[in-house]
Amino acid sequence: MSADPASAPDDTDGLDLDGEGGPRPVIGDVVVVVDIGGTKMAVGLMTLQGELLDRDQVPVDHRLSADALFNSLHTVVNSQMARARDHHRMRPIAVGVGCAGPISLHAETVSPINIHVWRDYPLRERLVGATSLPVYADLDAKALALAEGWLGGAQGKESFLAMVVGTGIGGGIVLNGQLLNGAEGNAGHVGHIIVEANGRRCPCGSKGCLEAEASGAAIEAITGRPPSEPTYEIMQRTGKLVGRAAASVCNLLDLDLVVVGGSVALGFGATFFNSAQEALDEHSKIAYARGARITPVRLGDRGPLVGAGAVAIRGLHRARREARAKK
Ligand SMILES: [Zn+2]
Repeated sequence: MSADPASAPDDTDGLDLDGEGGPRPVIGDVVVVVDIGGTKMAVGLMTLQGELLDRDQVPVDHRLSADALFNSLHTVVNSQMARARDHHRMRPIAVGVGCAGPISLHAETVSPINIHVWRDYPLRERLVGATSLPVYADLDAKALALAEGWLGGAQGKESFLAMVVGTGIGGGIVLNGQLLNGAEGNAGHVGHIIVEANGRRCPCGSKGCLEAEASGAAIEAITGRPPSEPTYEIMQRTGKLVGRAAASVCNLLDLDLVVVGGSVALGFGATFFNSAQEALDEHSKIAYARGARITPVRLGDRGPLVGAGAVAIRGLHRARREARAKK
């Protein structure tokens, strides 16, 4: 009989040598990142340095009830959390969410315009219940602004506008190092800047909004073709209108950089960006805004999830600062 504890098989510094899939040592922390759009919900794992380790997604099934839709998201979140521990040996410490708007402040409730069953849906609270982790959430375009300022095309910039030109059009503004919120958290929503005085009716109720003239949905309504099959004219017109709106924001807020992502802008490429820059040059004549640049986002399709991660990391820092202040 072996009575020598030194030879016992559990003396392995916790390494999983028994082949039973027992607890393995954790080598770092990750945040679970969630991006909620009108057509799909993406979930991933991000290190605190901004590296995406894993990702998965589930389509938004518009036939589902509000809670059934949440359950489909919960399933993917659960599976990513399990992969964090079992596959990456990482400990999930928080959840970060970027969600299509409108939202209420800090995204306590969300009402994504293209997810009709979620109206004032308590997404944050539901995720806290589902994961037992702290959950930090914000508007998707604001999350993207954080990501581009942290690791992307606006790195090191104190003030800039980030825009998403996709099915819809959104934006986020960083001014003097602070991401703007506004009263309810929707600041920076450039989609409702008026770009055509007597333009098309916008879903918001107004007329001639950028969203009603240049979003993917608008392009499809105007041309009868999906924005993935654009004509040269439509790429040029879309760029021109986005540049016009960007100029208004640069003039208003003393900005010299606009970074633009989203499937429509990135899909239209150089034609879009050249024409946007031309319109921006044409309309930002006041001295402080002259020379403002409009460029593609640099994080590509990682942007939304890295943005959700940036929201989580900002939330963790704030919570730590508040805890210290209370001591
Ligand atoms: Zn509008």
